[in-house]
Amino acid sequence: MTTSEELFRRARRVMPGGVSSPVRAFRAVGGTPPFLVRGDGAYVEDADGRRYVDCVNSWGALILGHAHPAVVRAAQQAVAEGSSFGAPTPWEVEFCERLCAAVPSVEVVRLVNSGTEAVMSALRVARAATGRDGVVKFDGGYHGHADALLVRAGSGVATLDLPDSAGVPPSAVRATVSLPYNDLDAARAFFERRGHEIAAVLVEPVAGNMGTVPPEPGFLQGLRELTARYGALLVFDEVITGFRLRYGAAQEAFGVRADLTCLGKIIGGGFPLAAYGGRADLMRLVAPEGPVYQAGTLSGNPVAVRAGLATLGVLEDGAVYARLERWGRVLEDGLREAARQAGVEVWVNRVGSMLTVFFTRQRVVDYGTARSSDGARFARFFHGMLSRGVYLPPSPFEAWFLSAALGEQEVDRILQAAREAFREAA
Ligand SMILES: *Cc1c(COP(=O)(O)O)cnc(C)c1O
Repeated sequence: MTTSEELFRRARRVMPGGVSSPVRAFRAVGGTPPFLVRGDGAYVEDADGRRYVDCVNSWGALILGHAHPAVVRAAQQAVAEGSSFGAPTPWEVEFCERLCAAVPSVEVVRLVNSGTEAVMSALRVARAATGRDGVVKFDGGYHGHADALLVRAGSGVATLDLPDSAGVPPSAVRATVSLPYNDLDAARAFFERRGHEIAAVLVEPVAGNMGTVPPEPGFLQGLRELTARYGALLVFDEVITGFRLRYGAAQEAFGVRADLTCLGKIIGGGFPLAAYGGRADLMRLVAPEGPVYQAGTLSGNPVAVRAGLATLGVLEDGAVYARLERWGRVLEDGLREAARQAGVEVWVNRVGSMLTVFFTRQRVVDYGTARSSDGARFARFFHGMLSRGVYLPPSPFEAWFLSAALGEQEVDRILQAAREAFREAA
């Protein structure tokens, strides 16, 4: 029995599924997850001493790769000077100034500990500001595990949406509607009937939780017009896309200004840190200035904030994004070619450093087409890659996240493994 197998056996006794977050348990691909003990640059190492090129990077958080020297230095210094105060610090001021400078639509911002908290709190602000309860999300969109947002990705437009999870009372999701992503006509039709009930439209500008799915031209702009016309707020969940697709928010690349924006993952440099912010008149509703209560013992934690500052400092000059685009393109082209040579039909979506190989012949534009990806084939491909030292997200509906630590050697290794793994998956 390998050390990972032994650890998994012990873990399952004391932890649900043996993990701290469900996808880590490998249920979609089968087998034992490697228990990781170390990361450096583009690589992770497991408890059995095997090394992998990492295409997960802590689900996108580690845009600079593992143990980047600037981030390590900042965190070490912070920890040595006191790991938490529960009081204001100079670093959070600098950090929030940086976020506001980098994202024009964010005028005032509040720091929290997770993306879940950020979105949940932004929704609370939107409901308070509009005096409405309704929230629109999109099928296949994930916004953390707050009750109101755990809604089954419905098949029809505005059908009665049921909770996706046991323990979520129907009353918690009664005001939530899930519409098809990239379908502006469906959104228009819905708003014509019920637009006046809607507090917020919540959307990932590039969907990342059904695999990578870019917005169709005009989709985000259309949502901006619709929400403005009906007095609803547009909330961009940029927990993945913020500071990953560019320095700042992805919304700028699409020429759309959100009312509220949620950030997470990247901004913490691998530590628990997230944020929600936006128009000053909305954010001034948050306690203690306004009536929307939201608080956190560890919020603005100095270790996380200083690691985040170090990360943003490296990202600011833009070279990282040019590098990610370059290697992203090489990977995208190489994966398509490898699949073609192996006779495997795939659809590859990529936006910058987010990439997904769907095992389908359909163009993937929404949850329905994403679901057409062949899960059994993906599982064979996944294990083919893992056994060759490439660590992919263990689900067909997740994005691969590239890091700036990736170079020619690693990209070659991924493509070499893919040529063989596609053949095994065929
Ligand atoms: C990861 C994610 C969240 C939730 O963030 P956590 O830090 O896991 O709570 C919310 N929205 C999107 C788009 C995400 O990808």
